[in-house]
Amino acid sequence: EKDKLEVFYKMHVDAARFFFQNLSNNKEVREYLYKRGIKDQTIRSFGLGYALNSWDSLLKYLRSRRYKEEDIVKCGLATKSEKGKVYDRFRNRIIFPVFDIRGRVIAFGARVLDDTKPKYLNSPETPIYNKGTHLYGLNFAKKNSKETSLVMVEGYMDLISLSQAGIQNVVASLGTALTKIQGRLLRRNSEEVYICYDADTAGQKATVRGLEILQAEGVKVKVVQISKGKDPDDYVREEGKEGFLKLLENALPLMEYKLIQEKEGLNLDSDEGRITYTKRIAEILNELDPIEKEVYLQKVSEDAGISERAIRKYMGNQNENSSMDTS
Ligand code: ATP
Ligand code: MN
Ligand code: MN
Ligand code: MN
Repeated sequence: EKDKLEVFYKMHVDAARFFFQNLSNNKEVREYLYKRGIKDQTIRSFGLGYALNSWDSLLKYLRSRRYKEEDIVKCGLATKSEKGKVYDRFRNRIIFPVFDIRGRVIAFGARVLDDTKPKYLNSPETPIYNKGTHLYGLNFAKKNSKETSLVMVEGYMDLISLSQAGIQNVVASLGTALTKIQGRLLRRNSEEVYICYDADTAGQKATVRGLEILQAEGVKVKVVQISKGKDPDDYVREEGKEGFLKLLENALPLMEYKLIQEKEGLNLDSDEGRITYTKRIAEILNELDPIEKEVYLQKVSEDAGISERAIRKYMGNQNENSSMDTS
């Protein structure tokens, strides 16, 4: 029912206030954020907080505010064990409130203060939180930025660091596979999307999958490439706003990125490498419109040292084969 949802939204605001207060009262935990370059003003803007090192501090607080235990569990703020014991989900972690596009708190992310695993815990799916339908930070991007493009990063800290550095047109997909719904959200709220995932294996895999989703949703997309092993948070802290803006300027159009991807692991100085590369690319070229095809055909031909004529002929054969297949 609608009233129930209102209770859930209110509970999240109350929980967020409680976490925020805990952080205000704890210099030691704030030091963790200071060490990562986060300023007090940023802590306030994003409503960051701290879940105490306790099994029931949030439970006690929410009970004192007259919330039912059953609802607290439904919101994923507490967990019920098989034996029926109820305890706080988030303990001894930095808290990141997750807002919806209207700025209502709908969930939380929570990070350990050291290298313990799992590094992040998140709210489960609840009646007010369906992970794949939101993008973290979209409410802030809409409110604080006039840019027509959006930069999409993986993590909470990436977005927060960029925002603190003065780059506000950022959203985070929070480390999961991008959904169609998120793709549509991006299309509706921007003219162009810069994918800026971590320069690690997970990030690169997610980039390829994300690209496919965005392409299918008709989003204009570019790929930002960060130096090995780093993420946008690391990068902007080291290179500043200017450095990051340069990175955006050098972002690769989708096709250029694909060419580089297909080259991966191949030796273009060997005949075998040239052949494999050219055939792989020919398949991709077939999907392009005639003008794009013309431009990239020339590039690939130069890259692989194989004549445009031969590539064209190969592509022609491929098409004939596939049209015969379907007949
Ligand atoms: P930090 O800089 O604090 O170490 P990060 O954001 O760089 O964190 P990554 O490991 O790159 O951490 O993960 C990117 C994002 O994926 C996180 O911000 C978080 O939203 C999500 N994530 C990471 N680990 C987990 C996990 N164990 N469970 C659920 N989500 C996770
Ligand atoms: Mn990563
Ligand atoms: Mn990261
Ligand atoms: Mn990081």
